[in-house]
Amino acid sequence: MKTEVRCYKCGKEYPLTNKTIHEHISCDHCHSHMRITRATERKFQVMRYLLVFVVCMTLAFGISMFEKRNYIVLLLVFSTAMAVALIADKIGLWLTWKIFGLEYEEDHPEERARLRKEEEREKARRKAEKQRRKGKK
Ligand SMILES: [Zn+2]
Repeated sequence: MKTEVRCYKCGKEYPLTNKTIHEHISCDHCHSHMRITRATERKFQVMRYLLVFVVCMTLAFGISMFEKRNYIVLLLVFSTAMAVALIADKIGLWLTWKIFGLEYEEDHPEERARLRKEEEREKARRKAEKQRRKGKK
């Protein structure tokens, strides 16, 4: 697991810690912007979905406690679920870091928007293709 991020421009290294991990990082030496790579972003997304799932399961467990009239456990469960939901992004990023490591790259908003658009177009194309094939049957 990588424990530091190196600025792509000036080469300055920054330690990655629980407090310094973010989706965006800017170098305080040369002020260039970096953000997590698309690959890292995808893993981060998966972690977030996983957390939403955990919150749902926790709530389901809480509701089963309600039937048993165990209100203290119910309250605890709901506060935990709320807390997790509120900081899901932070936990998700932390988990991504611990499991996969975080990769950073130069932040190119235009380039990223272009890539995203391309991906969407590709997705739409594949969907249309699928529907066309379905229509044939
Ligand atoms: Zn720098």
